Amino acid sequence: MNISVLSKAADTVSNCWGFLTVTDKENQELLQQLLQKQKTGKLTPTDRYKIPPQDMPEQDPITRSGNVNEVATGYTETQARLESMRCLQCKKAPCINGCPVRIRIRDFISAIADGHYKKALDIIKENSLLPAVCGRVCPQEVQCQQTCTVGLKFKDSTKAVSIGRLERFVADLDQNAGSVPAVAAETGMKVAVIGSGPGGIVTAADLRRAGHDVTIFEAFHKTGGVMVYGIPEFRLPKAIVQKEIDILTKMGVKITCNFIVGRTRTIEQLLKKDGFDAAYIGVGAGLPRFMGIEGESLIGVFSANEYLTRANLMKAYDFGSGADTPIALSRKVAVMGGGNVAMDSARTALRLGAEKVYLVYRRTEKEMPARIEEVHHAKEEGIEFHILQSPKRIIGNENSHVIAIECLKYRLGEPDDSGRRRPIPIEGSEFRIDVDTCIIAIGNIANPLIRQTTPGLEFNKWGNIVVDEETMATSVPGVYAGGDIVSGAATVILAMGQGRIAAAAINQYLEKEKKNRNQRM
Ligand code: FAD
Repeated sequence: MNISVLSKAADTVSNCWGFLTVTDKENQELLQQLLQKQKTGKLTPTDRYKIPPQDMPEQDPITRSGNVNEVATGYTETQARLESMRCLQCKKAPCINGCPVRIRIRDFISAIADGHYKKALDIIKENSLLPAVCGRVCPQEVQCQQTCTVGLKFKDSTKAVSIGRLERFVADLDQNAGSVPAVAAETGMKVAVIGSGPGGIVTAADLRRAGHDVTIFEAFHKTGGVMVYGIPEFRLPKAIVQKEIDILTKMGVKITCNFIVGRTRTIEQLLKKDGFDAAYIGVGAGLPRFMGIEGESLIGVFSANEYLTRANLMKAYDFGSGADTPIALSRKVAVMGGGNVAMDSARTALRLGAEKVYLVYRRTEKEMPARIEEVHHAKEEGIEFHILQSPKRIIGNENSHVIAIECLKYRLGEPDDSGRRRPIPIEGSEFRIDVDTCIIAIGNIANPLIRQTTPGLEFNKWGNIVVDEETMATSVPGVYAGGDIVSGAATVILAMGQGRIAAAAINQYLEKEKKNRNQRM
């Protein structure tokens, strides 16, 4: 695609919701001046520094807190070109070292600056199979953008080139293409991919590309892992994930849902009885942690996992017409935690009609692990932050329904093992917040099912699978693992990166196995 083609139609680009966004006139004039300079080779670093960082267009906070549509609506073409021209094209490209899958960031941004969007996307796809997902949910501010020279020059990380937004821009232009990668001739080797999260998806794609017979086994009735049941629609539209799944099926990957490995069949049975030659375990870290305080088993207390699954997968926002799940009845909600999961839960509660949503966190905002953008969005939407506070107990009525939380106030002490300052409760500081729903969002750990049913598989003390990091091979020959079940609760991009390493190693393993088999015959 080329700028001249798009600019003919008053420089409009449709975002993933199909709305048309017209870019502002000033931006268009600036872009024309810069393009002239670029043409004549006169675009200097000073010119680039002067280009204003492009804000992401968003639904306004009042409107969006009443719907589940995506909050950020995506750059217009003019914005994307301007933002890409802010990139200095550094020789050493420090941004690439900040990217867990080493995308050639400088080169894809240069292609956008030249109006070559397909080329930009092709560059991204060399290393990332899910750019529309990563452009939306990757924590770029602590990865590629943290090392951006422009941000460092201004001593302000928010002025770094918006790499993620540019990635999203080109990925969204490709949404209708849905091109299906070529698949090599059938090898006759069978691989089981357990779990359909981002790690499972990219592993399955790479294995199928090599010509193997690949089946994904998924415990839920729907594929996509946390991208579908955890991250809400307003941050990651489910249609984007579904397109990736559709590509897998078009490539010939088989998908079996409602299949719990460890219950329906064990890994041992898949390998020894069902004819699979190798397996990839990508089951994530789906077991919620609780606080261990009085009242956690009252009616109205949810783990964030359950709450978000009911909202996303069981469509609680459609309460009354399509989905009868009780969480939509909450009026006053307290969410415990300060990570992305806590922000997602709080913002979901608001969209499900809660009048008041409190976010209760025992450290300060500075220590919150959530992305700055999510904290900002949550506040804009009216979530009430209660920092340096944590519940001591949850109080119920005679029917065992939650009616309040009793909290303690905290102060910060010296840093603990995590490097963050330790929260210390202030004695006698108890106070009460009236709520009818509590959502516990203090983290997830590995589900023990695979450990309990797979003899010989080595785990660490946190219940995560031990792997050789070069290959993602586990202690069981032919069995590989990656994503949150290996790293603990982490990120989409890390799960994808590990999935690709595992797929490459499985391809090598199967090649050897095939040779051995042929020699034995
Ligand atoms: P998962 O995505 O966890 O998928 C695992 C799949 O395996 C699931 O579908 C599960 O049902 C299935 N499964 C489990 N056990 C079995 C079994 N025994 N048999 C068969 N199938 C099984 N990361 C980001 O980068 N950015 C974000 O903004 C972000 N926000 C998040 C918000 C929330 C609410 C949550 C919970 C996580 C968020 N994360 C985010 C983290 C990110 O989603 C995960 O790190 C990533 O999805 C892990 O991928 P995975 O492939 O390991 O598995």
